[in-house]
Amino acid sequence: MRKFGRSFRTTAPLPATPARVVVVGGGFGGFYALRKMQKLLGPERASFTLVAPNDYLLYSPLLPEVATGVLDPRDIAVSTRQTLRRTKLALGHVTSVDFEQHRLKVSGPESDTELSWDKLILAPGSVTRQFDIPGVAEHAHGLKTLSEAVFIRNHVLAQLDAADELPDTEAGRAERKERLTVVAVGAGYTGTEFVAQMQNWIRGIATRWASIDPSEIRWLLIDLAPAVLPELGEKLGKEAMDVLAERGVEVRLGVTVASATATSVTLTDDDVVPARTLVWGAGVAPSPLIAQLELPTEKGRLVVDPDMTVPGVADVWAIGDAAAVPDLAADPSKPTPPTAQHAQRQGIAVARKWPPLSASETDARTSTRIWVW
Ligand SMILES: Cc1cc2nc3c(=O)[nH]c(=O)nc-3n(C[C@H](O)[C@H](O)[C@H](O)COP(=O)(O)OP(=O)(O)OC[C@H]3O[C@@H](n4cnc5c(N)ncnc54)[C@H](O)[C@@H]3O)c2cc1C
Repeated sequence: MRKFGRSFRTTAPLPATPARVVVVGGGFGGFYALRKMQKLLGPERASFTLVAPNDYLLYSPLLPEVATGVLDPRDIAVSTRQTLRRTKLALGHVTSVDFEQHRLKVSGPESDTELSWDKLILAPGSVTRQFDIPGVAEHAHGLKTLSEAVFIRNHVLAQLDAADELPDTEAGRAERKERLTVVAVGAGYTGTEFVAQMQNWIRGIATRWASIDPSEIRWLLIDLAPAVLPELGEKLGKEAMDVLAERGVEVRLGVTVASATATSVTLTDDDVVPARTLVWGAGVAPSPLIAQLELPTEKGRLVVDPDMTVPGVADVWAIGDAAAVPDLAADPSKPTPPTAQHAQRQGIAVARKWPPLSASETDARTSTRIWVW
């Protein structure tokens, strides 16, 4: 066993040629799997390729801070070229995988290509969950990417600019209401963090517009569920709800959106809210790539064994939001929730599992640094 930084390299027999490891998706799961494998496996053992549409790891939990201008986009984008020095980057989306031939197709910004792999780690994450609700696809804005975060910020500021210019007529007052109302759907991380951060920020700067009083701006957080931030448990959820209510955010639980237009949101209790800003944070769905693989899924997530191998296909692992990894720490009959903390842990764990290390090496590395937001 040879020490390498804070990790240990394996002393298993060298392969004739370095194994080609391909990772799909450079989010929390894929990034941390690669970072760990680069430490554990020298160039004589493995070469690494990351297929991803971007050349950065996006710290999505901090997207609300970008939407509110607290952070710059570059502050939450970690360059993969800079951090994963031994990893070749194939920019693009994987469009199909041939598990028998160990080949996959990548559609890139400039050209399409094919890659061969000896070991494959699937970590394509999730996308904003779309519901078949009239008007939502056209008028709601997701908060999953840097460009969406920047768009929302500019959009909200543009509403203040426009509202400030409106005449004091009946039509002007009606439009002012629409422009000064923000509706966030989904009281999970995305919707709750967004509305809390955005309201706090706008409250502080609204007096820059001559005619706008911060209290005039209406904020709504709505969810079909009976609680805010259910991931955090009843007590913290209640505290979050109290803070929002104290700040003047209307929290409407047990309802959702029935339809949306460019100027209004109709709720399932028939209330029509005049609003030109609708932010959609009502859950995520696995990357569309998973459905194309024609492998068993659980609520859209790829079924994997507890060691994150994909049953029925050799040398393939899946982790993060896209995989239904049994939650061994809580309830193994359920998958781990789609969170950055789980994806990161799974990335590190899968890197340690391959190639198989001796028991003493595995035991020597039981602790791992996990970020808690
Ligand atoms: C606004 C917001 C706030 C959040 N707050 C928290 C929080 O406070 N705490 C927490 O734990 N979690 C939080 N999360 C959830 C967390 O970000 C995700 O659970 C985590 O990013 C999942 O990691 P992943 O690696 O599975 O997927 P991702 O980080 O989504 O990465 C997947 C990557 O794969 C790429 N990809 C997709 N399809 C393909 C393809 N076909 N080919 C190649 N690449 C592909 C994607 O572009 C992406 O870069 C939040 C999420 C959001 C959006």
